[in-house]
Amino acid sequence: MDLPIYMDGHATTRVDPRVVEAMVPFFSQHYGNAASRQHRFGWVARDAVADARAAVASLIGAKASEVIFTSGATESNNLAVRGVVDASRARGNHIVTVQTEHRAILDPCASLERQGMQVSYLPVREDGILTPAALGAAIEPTTVLVTVMMANNETGVLHPIDALAALTRARGISFHTDAAQAAGWVPIDVETSGIDLLSLTAHKCHGPKGVGGLFVRHGVAVTPLIEGGGHESGLRSGTLNLPAIVGFGRAASICLNEMAGESVRVGRLRDRLLSQLQNSLQGVTVNGSMKARLPQNLNVSIDGVNGEQLLMGLGGVAVSSGAACTSNTRKPSHVLQALGLSDKQARASVRFGLGRFNSEAEVDQVAEMFQGLVEQLRAPAPVFEQEHSENDLPPEWQ
Ligand SMILES: *Cc1c(COP(=O)(O)O)cnc(C)c1O
Repeated sequence: MDLPIYMDGHATTRVDPRVVEAMVPFFSQHYGNAASRQHRFGWVARDAVADARAAVASLIGAKASEVIFTSGATESNNLAVRGVVDASRARGNHIVTVQTEHRAILDPCASLERQGMQVSYLPVREDGILTPAALGAAIEPTTVLVTVMMANNETGVLHPIDALAALTRARGISFHTDAAQAAGWVPIDVETSGIDLLSLTAHKCHGPKGVGGLFVRHGVAVTPLIEGGGHESGLRSGTLNLPAIVGFGRAASICLNEMAGESVRVGRLRDRLLSQLQNSLQGVTVNGSMKARLPQNLNVSIDGVNGEQLLMGLGGVAVSSGAACTSNTRKPSHVLQALGLSDKQARASVRFGLGRFNSEAEVDQVAEMFQGLVEQLRAPAPVFEQEHSENDLPPEWQ
C-alpha cells in the first residue's frame, strides 16, 4: 500500500482533478477582470462568475443573487457576525453562539465583546448537540444574531439547524450558520431550513483554498468589512479571484451531483474504520453523536495513549489530534472539553476526516497501523531492578 495516506479532510481536502481542469483556462487564457464591462475578456470572466455563483447557490438551495464570494469561511464568518451586528446596533447588542464553534466565530465574538457587545456561549449536550430548548432559553429581547455551526469541524456533529433557525426567526432575529464542513457532504436547503446567512468554503469539499462564499438572504442587513468599488453587491469589494471562483463552482456542482452516492460510500468507510478500531483495540470511545454526524468524520479517544504521540508515530498517515488551526497551541480541544471530556481524554483523541479519494484498502491499512502503534504505546515501560546501574541500560535509555 502506498503511503502517505491522507485522512485529514477536516483540515483541507485534495482538489479534485476535474476542478483543476476547470480552473486552468482562467489563468492565462480567460484572464479578464469580471468587472470590465467594455470588452470580451471582461464578459467571459463575468459569465464564468455567474455560472459559478449559480452552481454554489444550487448546492444550498439559494438564489444566485444571494451568494457572494469571499476568501473562505473565516472571512464569511467575520462578515456575517460583524456585519449583522453592525447593521443591527439600533435593535440590540446580544449575540448567541455555542462553545464548540470554530475560532473563526469565537474570535470575532470575543473581539465584539471587548467593544461592548454581550455574547452567550451556550454549552452543548454530552453528544455535542445544542438543543432548541437550550437556545430558546438563551434568547433575550436584545438578541440580534444567533450563530450555530451546521457541522462541527472536530466531531462532525450536526446541530438540529432547522429547529434552531425556526425558533430564532420566529423572534425576528437573524440566524447564521457556519456550513464550512457540511456543504457538499450533506444536503442543505436554506429555504426550507429558514437560514438567513450561511458560510461556505471550497477547500473542505475538494475545491481550491482561499475561496468561499456567504449566503445572505434578501432583506438581511449586513455592513461590509471591505470597501472599495462595490463588488459583490457592495458586501465585498475587490477584484474577484476568477480561477478560484470557477473552481469553487465546479467543486460545488460535482458535490451536488455525487453527494447521494458519495455520502453513503464515505459513511461506510468511516463505519468500517470505527468497527476495525473497536474490534482490534479496547478502550476506543467515539466523541460526539454517531447519529447526527457528518458521514466523513470519526473522532475517537483511545484510552491510555496521547493523541500527539500517536500521530507522531504514524508517519505516513495524515490524521489530526484537533483542529488544524488550533492544534499548534497544545491546549486540549475546547470542543471535546465542551462535550465533558477530561483533559486526558481530550488529549487521547484522534480525528479522521475521510474524503472522495479514500479507499477501503486505505481504511484497512490505517486501522492495522493504529492497532500496532497503540499496543506499542500501551505496553508497560520495562522495569529495571534496583541494583542495576545506569550503565546496564541499553544505550538509547541512558
Ligand atoms: C475550515 C473551517 C473554517 C475556516 O475556513 P477557511 O476557508 O479555511 O477560512 C471555518 N469554520 C469551520 C467550521 C471550518 O471547518
